[in-house]
Amino acid sequence: MRYIRQEQFSKIGKENQEKLLKATVSIVGIGALGTTVLDILSRAGIGRIKIIDRDIIELNNLHRQILFTEEDLGKPKVAVAKEKILQINSEINIEEHLIDLDYDNIDLIKSDLIIDCTDNIYTRFLINEYSRKNNIPWIYASVIGSRGMTMNVTSETPCFSCIFKEPGQPLDTCDTEGILNTVPHALAAIQATEAIKILTDQDYSKELIHYNLWNNEITKVKVKKSNECTVCNGKYKYLEGKKSRGVIKICGSCNYQIKIENVNMLDLFNKLNKLNSIKTTEDCLILPNVIFFKSGRALVKAKTKEKAKAIVDRYLG
Ligand SMILES: [Zn+2]
Repeated sequence: MRYIRQEQFSKIGKENQEKLLKATVSIVGIGALGTTVLDILSRAGIGRIKIIDRDIIELNNLHRQILFTEEDLGKPKVAVAKEKILQINSEINIEEHLIDLDYDNIDLIKSDLIIDCTDNIYTRFLINEYSRKNNIPWIYASVIGSRGMTMNVTSETPCFSCIFKEPGQPLDTCDTEGILNTVPHALAAIQATEAIKILTDQDYSKELIHYNLWNNEITKVKVKKSNECTVCNGKYKYLEGKKSRGVIKICGSCNYQIKIENVNMLDLFNKLNKLNSIKTTEDCLILPNVIFFKSGRALVKAKTKEKAKAIVDRYLG
C-alpha cells in the first residue's frame, strides 16, 4: 500500500517498483541537496541507501537543509538524517558513514548508483574517477545563488573530466555568493527523478542541465566526450591519492578540516576527555572550537588556515 500512488504512475508500475526496492544508492553529502534527495528516494522505496557526510549541523544550515531542526544543532548530519528517515520509512535500510570521503575509503560508495550532493570539486573528480573505473553511474549537481547544474554521468555519456577542468583558483561557493533555498530543492528533484529512471533501466537525460530559478530558465546543453580526457583514457590521479588534501575549507561554515595523521585517536580522546566543557558521542569529541573525529580528522572554527592548524596543534601537543 505504501507505494500504490507511485505504482499507478505509468512509467513505474509494480515491476519497476520492485527494481527500486532491490537497489542500493550512495548519497555523498547530506546538506541541502543531500537531505532532499534522501527524503525523496527513501519515500520512493529505494531498498538500501548509503549516506556519507563529514559535517555537523549548524544554525546557518537550517534555511535549506530539510530533515534538520533546531534541536539537532551540533550533531553529525548523517546520524540525524538516518534517525529522521527511519521515521518516514522503516522498511528500507540506511547505512551511515561519518567520514570525509577520500581515495583511501572510497570503496564504501560501491552501489548501483552514486549521487553527488557535495559542495566541492575535489570530491566530484574523485567520484568521477571511481565511477568510470568501476562502471557505476553517478549524478552530478551543484548549486549557487539562484542557479544550479546537473548531469548524469554513465558509460553512455561524457565523464565529468571531459567537460570540467580543474580550477586554477578557488571557485565561488555558497560562502561567498549565498544561495536561494528553493534552488537545492529543485535540483535535488531533478537528480532524484533521473535516479529513478536510471535504476529502472529507462531512458535518462544525457545533457548538462542548467536551471535558474529566479528567471525560470532551463537550458539543456549537449555535451561531448573529449579525446584528451585522462580519466576516459584510464588514468586516475585522484583515486591514487596524487591530489590529496591536508587542510580544506568547508563550504557553508567557517570550518576548516584538518587530517590528523600519526596520532592514536583513542588515546587523544582519553586525554581530552578529562577536560571540562567537552561533549562526546560515539564518533566524535566536541570542544568549543574543535570537533575531533575518531576517523582521524578535526573540524576547526577559525578565521584562517594557519589559526585552524594552531588550535589543533594545541590539543595534540
Ligand atoms: Zn572523460
